[in-house]
Amino acid sequence: MKLVRFGARGAEKPGLVTADGRIKDCSAHVADYDHAFFAGDGLDRLRSLAKQPDGLPDAPAGARLGAPVARPRNVFAIGLNYSDHAKETGAAIPAEPILFMKATTAVCGPHDPILIPRGSEKTDWEVELGVVIGRDAHYLPSQEAARGHIAGYCVANDVSERSFQLEHGGQWSKGKSSLNFLPLGPWLVTPDDIPDPQQLGLRLDVNGTRRQTGTTANMIFDVLHIVQYLSQFLVLEAGDVIITGTPPGVGMGMKPPQFLRAGDVVELGIDGLGSQRSVCEPG
Ligand code: ZN
Repeated sequence: MKLVRFGARGAEKPGLVTADGRIKDCSAHVADYDHAFFAGDGLDRLRSLAKQPDGLPDAPAGARLGAPVARPRNVFAIGLNYSDHAKETGAAIPAEPILFMKATTAVCGPHDPILIPRGSEKTDWEVELGVVIGRDAHYLPSQEAARGHIAGYCVANDVSERSFQLEHGGQWSKGKSSLNFLPLGPWLVTPDDIPDPQQLGLRLDVNGTRRQTGTTANMIFDVLHIVQYLSQFLVLEAGDVIITGTPPGVGMGMKPPQFLRAGDVVELGIDGLGSQRSVCEPG
């Protein structure tokens, strides 16, 4: 199944994408794709709705897409999780997953503008596999046990301001949390449609030039490892988002480094999960 949310920012409605690419409105049956939806039997109810999509109204043509999940309670991010990306930043290969937080206010739709923060000269891109938690998870006993706690996968752009991240002291969250710094979507795809999340190609273009190419096969810590690992330190809640690190090709790693400016167009996608297109604007 492909879950989608459509409509004006803050007033999105839940929908489904049909096999032939139409968006159906599920708002008469489901309030939203939020914590209560995932923690309850939301996905099961949606699965029965999806069997007869013709009974659902169409979404308005050309409707804006929001993030495919309602504002999560937490956004967790894993740093330096591709060995080739760690190398381009000059960092050592981490022995354990590196965790940082992104403000949940950073979440936006897949085609919303990337807002260049005031005073920013180093706004950068990072295509990443996003994982949405389907059931609360705490002290998971094994990586295999993590499988049942995943609601699905989506494309994420971990937009990053490198000066805020690295030149203002402390840890990374300052450079990861500005408004619209986490475009998600277009869809949330359930695991039954993604047979192996560790075999997905990722790509990102800036103004039509390929900047990032990668595969989730090159993750240092795979999705099940990350979910089980985090659950040893904290409670993962249904509807939470985890972004799992970026492959090589970020602007900071270019020689000379290159960053986003107003007017630039960023396009990114992952096999089976669709693609995003965002124009950069002054924030
Ligand atoms: Zn990242």
